Amino acid sequence: MNKRVFFILAALIFFSPVYAQDDGAGSKKASYWEKVKDKTVRCLLCPRQCTLDVNQRGVCTVRVNRDGTLYTLGYGNPVAVHVDPIEKKPFFHVMPGETAFSIAVAGCNMRCLFCQNWQISQSRPDEVECYNLPPEEVVNKTVQSGCKFVVYTYTEPTVFYEYMLDTARMARKKGLKNGMHSCGYINPGPLKELLQYMDAVNVDIKGFSREFYNKMGMMAELEPVLRTLKEIKSAGVWLELTNLVIPGENDDPQKVREMCLWIRENLGDSVPVHFSRFIPAYRLANLPPTPVEKLQECRRIAMECGLKYVYIGNVPGHYAESTYCPQCDKLLVGRSGYRITENNIMDGKCKFCGHQVPGIWRE
Ligand code: SF4
Repeated sequence: MNKRVFFILAALIFFSPVYAQDDGAGSKKASYWEKVKDKTVRCLLCPRQCTLDVNQRGVCTVRVNRDGTLYTLGYGNPVAVHVDPIEKKPFFHVMPGETAFSIAVAGCNMRCLFCQNWQISQSRPDEVECYNLPPEEVVNKTVQSGCKFVVYTYTEPTVFYEYMLDTARMARKKGLKNGMHSCGYINPGPLKELLQYMDAVNVDIKGFSREFYNKMGMMAELEPVLRTLKEIKSAGVWLELTNLVIPGENDDPQKVREMCLWIRENLGDSVPVHFSRFIPAYRLANLPPTPVEKLQECRRIAMECGLKYVYIGNVPGHYAESTYCPQCDKLLVGRSGYRITENNIMDGKCKFCGHQVPGIWRE
């Protein structure tokens, strides 16, 4: 039976929708917080460090102060559960053609006006219908559906940290791999603990200035994201980057160049970078989609800066969806949409010239 059909049938049989409750399903005592005074607490999970009085929630809407103790409402209650191609995450240097059991809990610690998944990322876990899927069930379903990866994605996995961490630990014990797509807005302590169980992480660099992170509704800072990138790299976890190119907002060639030079200098020339096409959505539905020529310009700038693996995303059939050997220029991995058309990587090397290609390839 086709994997996808199997999973849909399994979903119908095993999953029963629930709503998270302030004191019930999906709720668990949180990690990474401290008492401030009396019953006021401070969350230490992400750089926002929300200080919360009793019954207040953090910016993410997932963490709540309940009588002086911080709880998460995002444990075991994903709002989205899908089997996806690993290319959709996007991971282009991770087992091409593999499938990823992908989960997300509602909520996010950013408020991007251009969010492409705003229906779930900007909802509270108790506002949307969720699945009842504890960590051990995620692992079981991953195995049953024939996936090698569990990927935490669609919204911001940091805000369902405890659920992700417990699942990732169990998945690792079962011989599965873990991946995450994140905005990178997490404090160093929880990140370090999490990275022990992560095999691959894709981080969004949303723009390359503090002004952009403030202006676009995120009320966030760029610096903690850059710190996260360096920490992932130095932990030896596979890293890819995504930059959603929004017309007139973060597509200034000079800024793109600055970003690419920073990447090369701090993360190396082999980290894959995905320039992704913006599709009008959420509060920026009035803008046009990113012109393909603009994405090509970004890619050209990145390659001029010395980056070796630069991709264009959300433009199915574009030649820059594929991987090319930086040494002999031959096609290494052909892609069309999320479909693999050709794979010329053998034992992690270009089969034509022997050039070592960084990534996680088949064992
Ligand atoms: S994880 Fe949520 S509650 Fe904690 S600091 Fe970040 S936004 Fe605030």
